[in-house]
Amino acid sequence: MIPAIRGTRDILPGEIERWQLVESTAREVFELYGYVELRTPIIEREELFAKGTGESTDIVQKQMYAFTDKGGERVTLRPEATPSIVRAYVEHGLEQAMAVPKVYLIGPMFRYERPQKGRYRQFHQLDVEVFGVKDPSIDAEIIDLAWTLVQRLGIENVELVINSVGCLVCGPRFSQALVAALGADLSKLCSDCQRRAAANPLRIFDCKVPEDQPIIDRLPHTIDFLCEECRAHFEAVERYLAAYGIPYHLSHRLARGIDYYTRTTFEVLGFNLGAQNALVGGGRYDGLVRMLGGPDRVGIGFAAGLERLVLALPPTAGRVSGPPDAFVAAIGDASRDVAFQLVRELRLAGIRADVDYESRSLRGQMKRADRVAAPLVLIIGGDELARGQVKVKDMRTGEQADVARAEIVRFVQARAAASRP
Ligand code: AMP
Repeated sequence: MIPAIRGTRDILPGEIERWQLVESTAREVFELYGYVELRTPIIEREELFAKGTGESTDIVQKQMYAFTDKGGERVTLRPEATPSIVRAYVEHGLEQAMAVPKVYLIGPMFRYERPQKGRYRQFHQLDVEVFGVKDPSIDAEIIDLAWTLVQRLGIENVELVINSVGCLVCGPRFSQALVAALGADLSKLCSDCQRRAAANPLRIFDCKVPEDQPIIDRLPHTIDFLCEECRAHFEAVERYLAAYGIPYHLSHRLARGIDYYTRTTFEVLGFNLGAQNALVGGGRYDGLVRMLGGPDRVGIGFAAGLERLVLALPPTAGRVSGPPDAFVAAIGDASRDVAFQLVRELRLAGIRADVDYESRSLRGQMKRADRVAAPLVLIIGGDELARGQVKVKDMRTGEQADVARAEIVRFVQARAAASRP
């Protein structure tokens, strides 16, 4: 046997129903809020993420599935969706096509990480982005959208955390203050932190190395270094959240591991998930569209991990597809042809119908019907064929009745409608 690649998984019947529930709920909620779907290729130029996600991020440095294709071009499987969506927005002039570009994407992402519960190499995200809106009401809408999705899915034990990392003016001032505050302690931090201090000091807050934590906990907070506009923006976001009754905490360490964030950052954490507890992560990225060659437009969005949402769902969530409405059994070859025609007719009429493909004995077919838990069996034998009838057996009561062939579809329709919840 050739097994699946490490860090990838098959999603099989039994679990897929939970995925379908998450996806259909997400589409419903996103569309309620006025977001429309777009899909981008899973393969892109490597430089899109080197530039967009950031050359110094862990994603670009360590985790990309990048390679040279047969034409000699450097390409990569996408590690996240935002740069791809920005590319599509710029490339197709979506700003002209949509009054307010509000879009969502559902699909696989690829990162070469150490696989564990809730962390895979191929995983799936629900991604939402809005372009061109500076007003803090959109930050609140995006956060509300993430929160409402998690609530609608019935996921319990969650917490919303928010922060502001400032703008291109006050952000760098904070980074300087951070390095100054670290002083001689910098040399005691891990090698990743040393690298971060040079490239993007804010990301020292992402460090998970236990020995580093006491030093990091003493560092200054971004929130105390915001410029006037960033402060007013953040306070407005907080006011909206309070007005909507959405509970949240401030998290001074919420910098997020990607270069492009400005102002608002947020995460929804799930506490039934173990170590990988971020269900949703997002924020504002006011410089990204321009950096990727587009007009000077702001942006904000979030990504939610589908695997983690599915893990966090209540255990009984997800509709398992039910038994067929009817099972058709045939006795003899002549009847088999009629049986297959009847099955097709039933299906086209919206009835879930099943049949035995292997010409088993009637007993074998009845066993099979029982196994798939069909409530009705429609039997066609020589007699029925001659009389233009179908014998209907109710599997629950054992009762049998003869129904005219011309009436059978309507008969089963009525029975199915009566027994469906
Ligand atoms: P990020 O793009 O890193 O901000 O991640 C956004 C969300 O995607 C996280 O909150 C997770 O829910 C999910 N996620 C990120 N990386 C992985 C991974 N390797 N495996 C599964 N889910 C992931």
